[in-house]
Amino acid sequence: MNQLAGKLLRAAACCLLCAGPVALADQQPRIALIMDDIGFQSVMDEAVLALDERVAVAVIPNAPGARHLARRAGDQGREVLIHLPLSRAGPLDCDAPICPRQEWSPERMRKHLAWASDRVSGAIGLNNHQGSGFTADPQATRRLIEGLVLLNGERDQPLFVIDSRTTPATRLASSAREAGLGVAERQVFLDHDRDPDAIASAWARLLATARRDGQAIAIAHPHTETLEFLPDALAGLAAYGVELVPISALIETASATSRAVPDYRSATAPSAP
Ligand SMILES: [Zn+2]
Repeated sequence: MNQLAGKLLRAAACCLLCAGPVALADQQPRIALIMDDIGFQSVMDEAVLALDERVAVAVIPNAPGARHLARRAGDQGREVLIHLPLSRAGPLDCDAPICPRQEWSPERMRKHLAWASDRVSGAIGLNNHQGSGFTADPQATRRLIEGLVLLNGERDQPLFVIDSRTTPATRLASSAREAGLGVAERQVFLDHDRDPDAIASAWARLLATARRDGQAIAIAHPHTETLEFLPDALAGLAAYGVELVPISALIETASATSRAVPDYRSATAPSAP
């Protein structure tokens, strides 16, 4: 397919999917976009920092450029997340010090999260990198969230949680909600398939979801195909009546009458850092 034909096909797919009625008549549908896997200081990371500043970056704490890129994004006024590596299947897949172990106590989880937030300074929330095994483990996920509640108790601004939903069995968002934390969930992976037509279809699905539900969150990655697609797509949003907002605008917060935060300090004694 030549380039023009490809563009026309993608535009047509978008029109078809986005033609439904807007769910909330009094408010423009809103989307937020998170660029994951940032921190390796590649030319791709530079291209991400050239995107619209409402696009958030999720920085991998152990990446060599984590501190530098988090600071640069923050200087731009861009929202920064900790992109927290979690194991897909078990310790052999990803283990300490990069990934928390599933059996760690809440206090040990807190120490890990404190390390991550130090590496990604200025972060206002976190989302999971991989983690299908970890987030499907209710006990491990609860202890991770308990550790985050402990860390938040030491911070001026609590970190919120975005569940990347790498598995339908994830317990990350539900655990965070139960703990009274700010929460959001990813609806669309934009570039799971990097083919330009697949990216365009995923974008159309994102807009259709936002028009149906009032808002939608996408996660994308610093791939060449994605970074070629996004500038025009973001610039064209207004024509579809959809607004790009910072991720913090789409976070559900617990009501003022939400549950009291449990005292996790009485939990299992920490292991060595
Ligand atoms: Zn990732």
